[in-house]
Formats: sequence, structure tokens, C-alpha cells
Amino acid sequence: MTDRNDDLFAAARAVTPGGVNSPVRAYGSVGGTPRFLASASGARVTDAAGNVYVDLVASWGPALLGHAHPEVVSAVQDAATRGLSFGAPTEGEVELAALIAERVRFGEVRPVERVRLVSTGTEATMTAIRLARGATGRDLLVKFAGHYHGHSDGLLAQAGSGVATMALPGSAGVPAPIAAQTLVIGYNDPDALDTVFAEHGDRIAAVIVEASAANMGVVAPVPGFNKLIADTAHEHGALMILDEVLTGFRVHPAGFWGLQAAAGEDYLPDIITFGKVVGGGMPLAALGGRAEIMDLLAPLGPVYQAGTLSGNPLSVAAGLATLRLATTEVYETIDAASARLVAALGGALTEAGVVHSVAKAGNLFNASFRASAPRDYAEAQAQDSFRYAPFFHSMREQGVALPPSVFEAWFLTAAHGEEEMRLIEAALPAAARAAADA
Ligand code: PMP
Repeated sequence: MTDRNDDLFAAARAVTPGGVNSPVRAYGSVGGTPRFLASASGARVTDAAGNVYVDLVASWGPALLGHAHPEVVSAVQDAATRGLSFGAPTEGEVELAALIAERVRFGEVRPVERVRLVSTGTEATMTAIRLARGATGRDLLVKFAGHYHGHSDGLLAQAGSGVATMALPGSAGVPAPIAAQTLVIGYNDPDALDTVFAEHGDRIAAVIVEASAANMGVVAPVPGFNKLIADTAHEHGALMILDEVLTGFRVHPAGFWGLQAAAGEDYLPDIITFGKVVGGGMPLAALGGRAEIMDLLAPLGPVYQAGTLSGNPLSVAAGLATLRLATTEVYETIDAASARLVAALGGALTEAGVVHSVAKAGNLFNASFRASAPRDYAEAQAQDSFRYAPFFHSMREQGVALPPSVFEAWFLTAAHGEEEMRLIEAALPAAARAAADA
């Protein structure tokens, strides 16, 4: 028997490649029909057939406060009545840039002096790299295997997220000379970092790194690794681009950098990229850094970047409302819920006799089907990933929506209350048994 989701998926495949507008949504690695969502509120989403799920996707991160938070929705509605897009500067953009710069601080240390708003995380990282090349006059970029920074040409080599889910080495359509400008090294490997700089140090413009890896499953940096990246890059005249598109304003008011600074790991990235939470569910992302670097962007400097919809007033309104509502209590709530689910998830898998590890980075977490938490991409891939599909489908049948790939973090929101937490906890044992039987 087909339901509305099956009908929509069939119709979608006739007009859209694979029926989706972003690959992981297609359920390629878990199988079955993707749920076409009709609405979402708080911690729950409703699909086209009327099924309601407790959501652990949160739009892949943005819904920090929960879906359709009334104050965020009303800020967007207000903005809409004043005009959808102007292509001219607005007061809101100034406020949002100032708020980002103000929040990303540790005491007097403020790595973000200037902010440019763009529309997607891909644009933010792409611009950050062009800026690093413009600032250093060098071409090479170092990235880590399994890290995902969006889908621009040079960043798809051994990338995480959908590239990992589909087990692709990279992407067709990327010219070899462009791919050759990206040097891919192993994550959490100080020797690899040393070697790449020993061999190419004077040609490297920047190292780009997820503040904590979370697109090959959650893989936290080993203590000191982010600082080592900053120090090594700076010794060689290269920049550190810290990609906080996923972690920024989600794991801590000042992002993963802020979390690490508070824990005593002091390093200074040169450019930081933001996305997801900063746009409160609307298309908005940003990059920020020291004035001397950021002011190399047009119109002041020679590095070109532009966007018809950059700083769109509806997106800015959603971002401003979200960041203003993202108080310390919001992070405390999510941290506590995360700790509780980490324990419940580990407990259920242990009880069912499933070999697993639950990895954490701040309040981000997910399970891997291997005995120890992975430290890099090779380890993340070396797991019984076939156990995830039955686990995922069991959770969904019990009313809990997980990310449709073992390589994605689970996202909580501040709207996950006692009722939702109990529902998730109650679903875990059967899902763990389904994984055990796989
Ligand atoms: N960087 C990181 C760390 C991400 O997780 C993502 C998206 N998941 C991106 C960049 C790309 O952002 P977008 O999908 O908005 O282009």
C-alpha cells in the first residue's frame, strides 16, 4: 500500500534528479521512501501522510530553538511585510554582524572583527578560501579527509556528509587542476600536518577544518589539535579557516571555538565560517575574521564576492531573533538533553549486545557501529554501517526521525521536553535489537 509520501516521491523523481534537492534526503543509504514534510513545530515534524515524528534532524542543525519558534516566525512575518529583498544595505544586517562579532569572544579575545553575510555555508567557505588565497598570494589549500565544507569544486575531495554516505571519492565535474590545489590529509594526525607543511609550506594559503568534525559522524578534535593547526599554519605564513557552519552557535554561545577557549585551548583562527543556526532556518551564512583580512573583500579590496540575496531581510530577521533567544539556558537545556540521550543510546545498544561507540563533541553526538569512537575518516568508515538502516527504520516506525545516514550527527533542540525525551528513550531498545539482528 502506498501512502502520500510514496506518491510524492514518485512525482518528485519525475521532475527532480533523484526526487530531492540535496542528496542525503533521498534515503540512499537507509533505503525506503523519504518522508515529505508538511509542517514542523517545536521538537516535532509532520509528514505529508499526517505522521508525526519527534525530530532529531532539526533541519540538519538550524532549528536550535525548535521548529517554527513563534518569535522567530513573527520576526520573519514582520520583515516580509516590509519587503522581501532590496539589494541594498539594511539596518538589520548591521545588527546581525555586530551580534555575531560580539558573541564570538572569550574575554577580550575577539577573532571576528568584520562579518560578511552570504546565503549558504558553501558560499561562506568558498569565499573564505578565496580570501585566504588573496591575502597570502598562495594557491594550495589543506583539508582533512572526511570533513565537509559544502560543494564548491576544491572542497569535494574525500569529503564527508553526502559524499561519505554515497562512498564517493569526490565528484565528477571537478577539473583535475582545481582538485590538485587541495591537499587532503588525515584528521587528528599531527605528523600528517607536519609533513604537508614541510613539503609545501611556502605554497599553502590555508588549512580549512571543521571546528569539530561532524560530517563523518561526530569526530571531535583530539585535545590540542586545533591549536596545532593554527600554530603550524601561522609558522608558515598560512591562515587557519575554522568552519563553524555546523557547530557555530549550536554547541556554545561562541561556537566550538568558544567551547575550546573556555576549556583552556587558546588558538586564533584567521577566518571563521558560520551557517545553519546563524540564519535561524532561513538561507543565511556568514564569514568573519580580523579587519585586515576581511577588508580585502570587495568593495574595499581586490577579492571579489557578491550576492543578489546576501543579507536578505527575512533571513536576517530569523537569524537575529534566533541568536537573541539563544541564551545560556538554551545551551544548558540542549547539553543536558544530549547527555541524557548519549547515555540512553549507549545503554540500549549495550543491552542489545551491539558493538558500538557513542561519540560526542559538545552537545553533538551520534553512534558508530565499532568498538571505539573513530578518530579519523578511515576509522569512521571501518564500522558495521549496515546496522544503521534497521536501527533508523525502527526508530521511525516508533515515531522518531533520525538523520538518514550513519555519518550524520543527531541534532537536539531547546524544544525537546520531557515527553519527547521519554518517547525517544522508549524507542531506543527495539531499534538497538533491530540493529543487533541485522
Ligand atoms: N561546512 C560544514 C561544516 C557543514 O556541515 C556544511 C553543511 N552541512 C557546510 C559547510 C555547507 O553548508 P550549506 O549546506 O549551507 O552550503
